[in-house]
Amino acid sequence: MTDVAGRIADNLAVVRERIAAAATRADRTADSVTLVAVTKHVPLDLIRILVALGCHDLGESRPQELWSKAGEPLGAEVRWHLIGHLQRNKIARTLPLLSLVHSVDSARLLAALDAAAAEAGRSIDVLLEVNISTEASKTGLPPTAVAPLVEQCAQLPHLQVRGLMGMASLGSGEAAARREFARLRALRERLQSDFGIALSELSMGMSGDYEVAIEEGATIVRVGSALMEGIGL
Ligand SMILES: *Cc1c(COP(=O)(O)O)cnc(C)c1O
Repeated sequence: MTDVAGRIADNLAVVRERIAAAATRADRTADSVTLVAVTKHVPLDLIRILVALGCHDLGESRPQELWSKAGEPLGAEVRWHLIGHLQRNKIARTLPLLSLVHSVDSARLLAALDAAAAEAGRSIDVLLEVNISTEASKTGLPPTAVAPLVEQCAQLPHLQVRGLMGMASLGSGEAAARREFARLRALRERLQSDFGIALSELSMGMSGDYEVAIEEGATIVRVGSALMEGIGL
């Protein structure tokens, strides 16, 4: 167990150093980037190690897995991020656990989240997920479909849209990822000026491309496998 804890600590130190270096290259400070440790498929004892090392923002892609993990003691208060698809019939049970939903990709889901938040007497922060990759299989809204949803959000009092989320094409190389991230940032900037609102968060970058994402403006990176390297999960 100590070996595993040491390895995770080393992995985390490397990720934090690389985040700081990428932020510096982009003329930003390391604390302008939030590391969300993605814990899908990671067992609770290893999650507790991450939490003890100061990872208090955790991401899950499946609501059911989030339900079971969020119900367990983790050693500290954590902020849960949902980074995968949320079906409307799972909203009621998931919402109380969540601090940020990264993966909102339809008008119906926005309306349902707002209604559930109203019911629960709270408000919920969301990001709109945009398909920035050139792969047909990726999830998220086509870029041209984002503006109408931003407009819709203005009518939903229990929901705040904080920014955009995107995933680069896998395996098409750094230059392609950089172009895709830059496109997401440009879209964010256009929406901010068209609607006169702040979309301050850009959730982009995973284990393979978080440094490039930060150089292109990411404020949140979602890193999973790089933290568990060498653990043999
Ligand atoms: C799994 C996942 C991640 C983390 O991916 P790694 O390559 O393991 O860092 C990030 N974002 C989303 C949406 C994911 O599903």
